[in-house]
Amino acid sequence: MKAEIVATGTELLLGETLNTSAHYLTGKLSSLGIEVDYHTTVGDNPDRLEQILRQAIGRTDLLVTTGGLGPTVDDLTKELVAKVLDLKMELDAFSLEQLKQFFARRKAPMPLNNEKQVYFPTGSKILPNPIGTAPGAIIKKNGKTVIILPGPPFEMRPMFDTYVWPELQRIIEPHTERMNERVLKVFGMGESAIEEVLGELMSLPNLTMALLAKRAEMHIRLVARSSQTTSGEASDALDRAEEKIRQRLGDKIFGRDQETMIGIVGQTLRNKHLTIASAESCTGGLLGAALTQEPGSSEFYLGGVVSYSNSVKQEILGVNEDDLKKFGAVSEEVAKEMAAGVRSKVGSDLAISTTGIAGPDGGSDQKPVGLVYIGLATPEGVQAKRFQFYGERESVRQLTVQAALNEVRQHMLNSERRL
Ligand code: AMP
Ligand code: MG
Repeated sequence: MKAEIVATGTELLLGETLNTSAHYLTGKLSSLGIEVDYHTTVGDNPDRLEQILRQAIGRTDLLVTTGGLGPTVDDLTKELVAKVLDLKMELDAFSLEQLKQFFARRKAPMPLNNEKQVYFPTGSKILPNPIGTAPGAIIKKNGKTVIILPGPPFEMRPMFDTYVWPELQRIIEPHTERMNERVLKVFGMGESAIEEVLGELMSLPNLTMALLAKRAEMHIRLVARSSQTTSGEASDALDRAEEKIRQRLGDKIFGRDQETMIGIVGQTLRNKHLTIASAESCTGGLLGAALTQEPGSSEFYLGGVVSYSNSVKQEILGVNEDDLKKFGAVSEEVAKEMAAGVRSKVGSDLAISTTGIAGPDGGSDQKPVGLVYIGLATPEGVQAKRFQFYGERESVRQLTVQAALNEVRQHMLNSERRL
């Protein structure tokens, strides 16, 4: 099955908004074995949009559009799809009721022009939008399928996952080749080191493996192709490959698929009933932000101090003035004292600290930009580790956050082993 994605919105052509929806939808369609032949982006211009829709419907089996479902006059996608498919627009009473309730919940009157959002090409299967005011639609005519989705990605994605994905699973032919994917996530090893360790595993039969470098982690992406009927075999092949890879990389692998470093760390802290606090210098609160990212983080994160200046390091965290003078703020000693200081102030089980030179200025021969110390205080004692990161300021800061979380993860794994 051939597909095409048409993203509408002048903001996409002006470079104001990145077309993340094309990226998202293509990944989903490809994993179902649907070939995406074209991505087109078109502004909110009726003539050009009509022309693009006509061309797309003419040459593809499945057209997915995003955007242009708003209440204003420049939102024209549904109307033009109807025109191209020679269908009338009809009011959907259920959607109108939902829309009225949407405004009632907000205790706001419903503007008249919102009514436009509940008209659809005749025969549409309507896709509810619990987040916004624009429902989507699936329209089938003459063997073609058109799927109309809203522009805001936070509305488009749940609508796709809830309604479109199952629909597509039904309509793809059972023999269509599918991509069964698994991603193993590694921290603290580069591409070539992983390749060396994995060696011949990189070319297992019936499986493709790719290494993808992300800013702070490496992803090992495994793909086993199958038809719908052989997807069981594909998932067995993925299991076997994962096991072999884990034997070689051990706990360098911190998670897989949708799992994130902070998700794993938070879950482990929660399972072990451990609490944590943070003392941050070069990350300026990013570590605290990461530790509070997931709902329920209050179960393990007690709080933190952003101790950017020496005076805050001394006065709030109790870092020794002589050590600051002798070793400097970016040093193993200060990282340890920051972690120990916040741990005793806050009364947490664990405490993590960061101090480093994020750049672009402030580096020297002895302490170059990207030098970071991460301290970890635990009931067993305090330690600090030296890291040398490379890249611009934001990369150094993000890498520091990931490395700090990884220190917490490794500590919990090691203390498990000691038991
Ligand atoms: P619309 O449904 O056309 O009113 O889109 C509303 C908003 O969604 C726009 O202001 C954009 O910020 C966002 N948006 C629309 N299309 C895309 C896209 N393809 N990728 C990312 N964001 C988008
Ligand atoms: Mg728009």
